Amino acid sequence: MTTSKIGSTVLGHPRIGPNRELKRALESYWAGRSDEAALREVARRLRADTWRGLADAGLDSVPGSTFSYYDHVLDTAVTFGAVPRRYAELGLGSLDTYFAMARGNDAVPPLEMTKWFDTNYHYLVPEIGPDTRFSLSDRTVVEQYREARELGVQTRPVLVGPLTFLLLSKPAEEGFDPLDELAELTDAYEQLLAELHREGVRWVQLDEPALAADRTPRELDALRNTYRRLGDLAERPAILTACYFGDPGEALGVLAAAPIEGIALDLVTDPSTQDRISGTPGLSEKTLVAGVVDGRNVWRADLDRCMATAATLLGSAGEVAIGTSCSLLHVPYDVEAEPNLDPQVRPWLSFAAQKVREVVALGRALREGRDVVDSELSEARIAIAARTEAERVRNHRVRARIDSLRPADSGRADYAERRAAQQESLRLPPLPTTTIGSFPQTTDVRKARAALRAGRIDQATYRQRMRDEVERVIALQEDLGLDVLVHGEPERNDMVQYFAEQLEGFAATENGWVQSYGSRCVRPPILFGDVWRPQPMTVEWAEHAQRLTSKPVKGMLTGPVTMLAWSFVRDDQPQADTARQVALAIRDEVRDLEAAGIRVVQVDEPALRELLPLRAEQRQAYLEWAVESFRLATSGVSEATQIHTHLCYSEFGDVIDAIVALDADVTSIEAARSRMEVLADLNAVGFDRGVGPGVYDIHSPRVPDVQELVDLLEAAVHAVPPERLWVNPDCGLKTRDYPQIEPALRNMTRAAHHLRA
Ligand code: GLN
Ligand code: ZN
Repeated sequence: MTTSKIGSTVLGHPRIGPNRELKRALESYWAGRSDEAALREVARRLRADTWRGLADAGLDSVPGSTFSYYDHVLDTAVTFGAVPRRYAELGLGSLDTYFAMARGNDAVPPLEMTKWFDTNYHYLVPEIGPDTRFSLSDRTVVEQYREARELGVQTRPVLVGPLTFLLLSKPAEEGFDPLDELAELTDAYEQLLAELHREGVRWVQLDEPALAADRTPRELDALRNTYRRLGDLAERPAILTACYFGDPGEALGVLAAAPIEGIALDLVTDPSTQDRISGTPGLSEKTLVAGVVDGRNVWRADLDRCMATAATLLGSAGEVAIGTSCSLLHVPYDVEAEPNLDPQVRPWLSFAAQKVREVVALGRALREGRDVVDSELSEARIAIAARTEAERVRNHRVRARIDSLRPADSGRADYAERRAAQQESLRLPPLPTTTIGSFPQTTDVRKARAALRAGRIDQATYRQRMRDEVERVIALQEDLGLDVLVHGEPERNDMVQYFAEQLEGFAATENGWVQSYGSRCVRPPILFGDVWRPQPMTVEWAEHAQRLTSKPVKGMLTGPVTMLAWSFVRDDQPQADTARQVALAIRDEVRDLEAAGIRVVQVDEPALRELLPLRAEQRQAYLEWAVESFRLATSGVSEATQIHTHLCYSEFGDVIDAIVALDADVTSIEAARSRMEVLADLNAVGFDRGVGPGVYDIHSPRVPDVQELVDLLEAAVHAVPPERLWVNPDCGLKTRDYPQIEPALRNMTRAAHHLRA
């Protein structure tokens, strides 16, 4: 086999469309407003635009699978026939079977969905069982290669690699191990490689991000066997195995020894990867795609530094190519689509379109010498220097305040003292009832926000509408008989963006959408500089609500870890430092709420588990700063002020000690779907604070009846004494409607009253 060069490339690309065209087309198809042909046409156009755009920008190697109707893990499952029988049996066409797996329908629930490593992208979990028969069942990969070739673009098909695919799968039944099926799955990959070869494909990319996490010797053996088999295939394209989201550790040696032609490495996430390269035998005949441009953050690349990194690798590999650290799926399309972005910050940023240009420039510089891209290099140099020196990036007042912190600032009085003071102040019944914060965002609320944005109403009118909404929400809670009330968060577009818009150090985008799952996109704020709070952010709303009731109103804030997890964060200082600054801003808000007469404050940390590092040895350090920043945010108040936190969206086994260490007075935690199992986990580590295991799943429109809630609470009272137990739903109610939440909350308070009696 003669192997062509890769030169410059990106590992993947956003696919929702520069104006979210795919989102609109999908939602219209799902709603029955358009047909399959219309959806396929939008998809075809998006693919064509992406491939042509990448080729025209000058990439030497263009990734092929830059499109998915929903999720690339699901695409790989379908390619190799891993369609569970319950979906195949529906007798639907291929696209509708695919959507049934992704979204479920009246007859079947969807596949489980979970986070793609430590990103905010979610994939569908393949189910592998004794019935799964792997074979090349769907040839979309081949067809899309042809489609691109007809447009004059020679692409490099991309698939999830076989090891990662099985490691991400779940067994369809207990006792079954998907990894045992690797040999059969490898047969199917071989079949695909042979077909791609016949089509004239030169390179395929197999993504193995699972190698960024700890792997057992058995898993490394599986990796060795599978890539030996794929490599030994006589007639096939060159294979590029991509390792990203961290250091591949020992797996690098395994891949370097395998008979494959290329390895793509993430040289951004973990500095130890670069050091590992020179000592790894077997690389010298291979193509090494040096992932020097950050694929998942939004900062303009320091091209000089990238060049220096690539240059050190030159002797270590047959070809050193330039690439992104991972797929660009995790960044927005184009900085050019942000005319109103903070003009000082704009030149510091690079989204997918800019990153492609950076990769192209670096590729040329490496091949033809720096002079040919002199203007790109100097432009980058100027932007990087401006960012480094900007007063808004390094604010001396923020830094002085951080320097003056003492350990006592992250600790409160003894819990026993706090408990007594809070009893005295709040006088709550046993099994107090509350909610997680948001109430339904009604059409009126959304319309008012849209009208404000469009300039059809002014700030004062908008605020008045939100105040009216708060009044309705308070009246409803009084009527339902809840014990700790909330204002309902009508004024918040999003629990992170709302605060980011008010804090210094954050910038917001208008068009910076990133796919979260399927047609769902998020627009993470950009945390570019030292963070501080110019003025109170929530006090007026909480105060307004508290004036309307004699019951305690709980102030609602988003915690530092979650603010970081759902933003693009700066790459010029440790996350721990950034978290501490955000914590101080929240601390100011907590204190102001207390001063305004708010006696209960909840600081939400739903993302606590999300940022947990993929490698076990890095977890302790993360948990330390995560816990410390929460404590810093919440320790500025008197013992009588009750601090709540709220956790959801994950299994908490790995972070259970950290939850204890948060030292919150009350923790509300998602539990309904796992039937309160989390209580036993908390007991096992000696947790002795208030706890509100969610008693019903707000993600479903179903209204729980009183008896089932009583049963759940009885189970809970066995695990937790009633004086520590709180009664609340699993999460905020903003995605539900009033006709669902009213009876649900009424049944919840009835169940609590029943147990009290
Ligand atoms: N307070 C937020 C709400 O109720 C919490 C949301 C969340 O946990 N994701 O919406
Ligand atoms: Zn939640």
